[in-house]
Amino acid sequence: MTTAIPTTLADVLRAEGFTGRLVEPDRPDYDSARAGWNGAIDRHPAAVAYAGDAEDVAAAIRGARAAGLPFTIRAGGHSVSGRSVRDGALCIDLRALNAVDVDPERQTVRVGGGALLAELDAATQEHGLAVPGGQISHTGVGGLTLGGGLGWLMRHHGLTIDSLEAAEVVLADGRIVRAAAGEHPDLLWALRGGGGDFGAVTSFEFRAHRVGPIVLGGMLLHPWEHAREALQAARDLMEDAPAELTVFVALITAPPEPPFPEQLQGRPAVAVAVAWSGDVAAGERVLAPLRAAPAPALDLVGPMPYVALQSMLDQTAPHGWRFHDRMHYLPAVGDGFIDALLAGFESAPTPQSHVMTGWMGGALDRVPPGATAFGHRGARALTWIIGCSGDDPVGPTADWVRRVWDATAPFADGGVYVNALDAGRPVRDAYAAEVWERLVAVKRRYDPDGAFSGNGIR
Ligand SMILES: Cc1cc2nc3c(=O)[nH]c(=O)nc-3n(C[C@H](O)[C@H](O)[C@H](O)COP(=O)(O)OP(=O)(O)OC[C@H]3O[C@@H](n4cnc5c(N)ncnc54)[C@H](O)[C@@H]3O)c2cc1C
Repeated sequence: MTTAIPTTLADVLRAEGFTGRLVEPDRPDYDSARAGWNGAIDRHPAAVAYAGDAEDVAAAIRGARAAGLPFTIRAGGHSVSGRSVRDGALCIDLRALNAVDVDPERQTVRVGGGALLAELDAATQEHGLAVPGGQISHTGVGGLTLGGGLGWLMRHHGLTIDSLEAAEVVLADGRIVRAAAGEHPDLLWALRGGGGDFGAVTSFEFRAHRVGPIVLGGMLLHPWEHAREALQAARDLMEDAPAELTVFVALITAPPEPPFPEQLQGRPAVAVAVAWSGDVAAGERVLAPLRAAPAPALDLVGPMPYVALQSMLDQTAPHGWRFHDRMHYLPAVGDGFIDALLAGFESAPTPQSHVMTGWMGGALDRVPPGATAFGHRGARALTWIIGCSGDDPVGPTADWVRRVWDATAPFADGGVYVNALDAGRPVRDAYAAEVWERLVAVKRRYDPDGAFSGNGIR
């Protein structure tokens, strides 16, 4: 009896045991399969392999390597620079790995490597629990966690990685291992902020926290004339605010619809977005100074379900619009920085472009630097300049992002969040020197050939 020699990519993958769906360029759904969240990214992978479980992921990795193809791993597809899809590479899609199993007694959660934050939040909130996530609910748990995870609970319960206790990982040679305190602890350390170049995580195990179901959240909207005072008021409050409070101040163009007051619609404005995850009445008292000076033109802060807080900004980031972003970590939010930021925002090229400045500290400071691979934990704030051109070419918007970034760079600490790396920025900038050396050592141990190369750690 003769055995057929695999000749096509599909044959090679099947020979390795891949059982999922493979979408190659000649298929009608190829264009939708290759599309990520950012409409500015237009890449043509060799194929998209939809894995159904960890064995499938392992088979796809072995198959890609046997076929001599580079590969990428995709979860939520939210990477702004499009790291999860590459021209000519096999894109291994994990979206089907989205089960969320909550153990309410132990307050732990096991979540598939392809789940979205909305799926994690919905399942945990059924038990009054939450794992700190990000601010847009259709972001992937995978990419967000592997970079660190900054969100509404970060000052109260830490980064997403601060709740990560273990992970199931498919390594570059196709082995499936568990990374935990007692098994491959160096790998777990690297997964906690190292950016995902160490293996494909097929499930995460998190410690969950009691949150909600009702929290205090929403936004206070100020006219542009009060922008400086509103930013200063937020800065002053966050100097010694309780850890239950997280604040992000967004410079926006007020949308042309209710509930935004008519006189502000279509004009630059300041939205002070808040999340208080403690006792609601206590939160109202803590927020009082933000409502006093200056008084907002629109007050949308109130008790809301935690899942509503987690999705309240979703409409600012729909799939398919074209985005370009850059960010800074800040040692302080000084008046010079505020003035430079406001001046920069005045030339925002589109109504969808915005800038978010949020305060760190609180629980982030309880974890010593170097205990996880996340870089720049000691920063006091961060500012994220988000250019969006809708369906138009991103070029002029990217130029604006660069100008605002340059103008505010003198006030920044020079670092970058690995999940906000744009093309051309070295991944090394995301880490302190000693963390970088450890990351490179873990990389050499678990992926010596650099098969996982989304960020370029080698
Ligand atoms: C609109 C928007 C809002 C955002 N808000 C926040 C926020 O509030 N807080 C925050 O911290 N970040 C935020 N981010 C950044 C976000 O965390 C990153 O873009 C993140 O990488 C997205 O993860 P993903 O799984 O959706 O993306 P993908 O594009 O699927 O993956 C991103 C990277 O992670 C790798 N990866 C993903 N899953 C796995 C896995 N299971 N195993 C191995 N590697 C994997 C991919 O290979 C790729 O290199 C935001 C991004 C956008 C676009």
